[in-house]
Amino acid sequence: RYLQTVQRENDDLRAYTCVTEKTALAAAEKVDRKLAAGEPLGPVEGVPMTLKANISTRGIDTDCCSRILSGYRPVYDAAVWQILQQQGAVLLGKSNMDEFAMGSSCETSCYGGARNPHNTGCVAGGSSGGAASAVSAGLAAYGIGSDTGGSIRQPASFCGIVGLKPTYGAVSRYGLIAYASSFDQIGPLANCAEDAAILFDVLSQKDPCDSTCTGARCAAVPALQQSLKGKRVGLAAEYFDGLQPDVQVALEQAQKVYQGLGAELVPLSIPEIKYALPVYYILACAEASSNLGRYDGIRYGIKAEHYTGVNDMIAKTRSAGFGKEVKRRILLGTYVLSAGYYDAYYKKAQMLRRKIRHAFESVFQQCDFLLAPTVPRTAFPFGFTAQDAVETYQTDICTVPVNIVGLPAVSVPCGFDGQGMPVGMQLIGGAGHEDIILNAAHQYE
Ligand code: GLN
Repeated sequence: RYLQTVQRENDDLRAYTCVTEKTALAAAEKVDRKLAAGEPLGPVEGVPMTLKANISTRGIDTDCCSRILSGYRPVYDAAVWQILQQQGAVLLGKSNMDEFAMGSSCETSCYGGARNPHNTGCVAGGSSGGAASAVSAGLAAYGIGSDTGGSIRQPASFCGIVGLKPTYGAVSRYGLIAYASSFDQIGPLANCAEDAAILFDVLSQKDPCDSTCTGARCAAVPALQQSLKGKRVGLAAEYFDGLQPDVQVALEQAQKVYQGLGAELVPLSIPEIKYALPVYYILACAEASSNLGRYDGIRYGIKAEHYTGVNDMIAKTRSAGFGKEVKRRILLGTYVLSAGYYDAYYKKAQMLRRKIRHAFESVFQQCDFLLAPTVPRTAFPFGFTAQDAVETYQTDICTVPVNIVGLPAVSVPCGFDGQGMPVGMQLIGGAGHEDIILNAAHQYE
């Protein structure tokens, strides 16, 4: 049924960049045989799903929606896909994304951006736009995405679904094609908080292949039924600046729901949030410029056909293979790392990163979790992000802080704007406290 829906809807939604029908049917048949034999099934066994196009799958296209990796099929599986395969997951295909996960609308994808099922004139968000579009429209039961500065939560918010960015290090990134390694984290996009909790508990395992991966510090599913009576919901004023009026109204209603559930609202302030955007875009671009150095026409993907020498070959391959946004970030990242500017930009941003981390640490002495908008607005119409890159970067203001400090956050649908487009709220927890935010999300639902 899912494959039929994908066939029917995908031309319209552009959620999938590659459909793995044979793999899906083979996995489903295996589960059928187990069912027929009366064997019990695991929590994700037989459930049809999609992986973002930057998660390595052996023998299956993993091109990050970039021309430079066109036709690239990895020789190994990412850790998350190893776990899911062992547990009997059914892979329907790879989902659309911004090129190398750089973007907020999925429009930098070489396939064109995934469309929003609530209004196909609007983007599904980015960078994991394909997964959000697929889950929202019933083209997959869940998706696995990556979040460097909001790429799971922002598309989840735009498409009216749940998206979880786990604590940095909770889920292995072995086999995730790197964008900005000190920010990247893998997580689920799902229909509800309970599904996200099940997936978090399955995926968060220690992995010796990713030295930053320590696994989960909590179990999310057993915590889902806890009462919110007496819990303190932090409201940091800085997150509520400059919201679209409909988003503000939806967030105010969400606060009332929490009061109704017995929680206490705690107004507070995190002034350091004002540094988050420049810190993120300086450090993420610096790391990207280094990570993307490997695409030289020799090791992976495409290679220029006519060239005069090795430097010319590399230049021609990269000029043809990378899109405009990726080039912009490589140039910006190279600039902030260059000898004359390192202290003024990169080093300063690192110092501010520490300051922001300290600020967030003290916040969780005042509250159990933070409630904030996921994005200051609802989904953009197509073409919006092409007009002004900086204005687009600014819409990431509510999502990037937790990536800077490594904290977990979940986006949960909390209403609609006047045009019927979904609004998302974000619940942010202390390090290792996916249980608290997923419980709060589940109680809200
Ligand atoms: N929109 C942000 C960026 O363009 C975040 C992307 C992401 O999380 N991968 O960098």
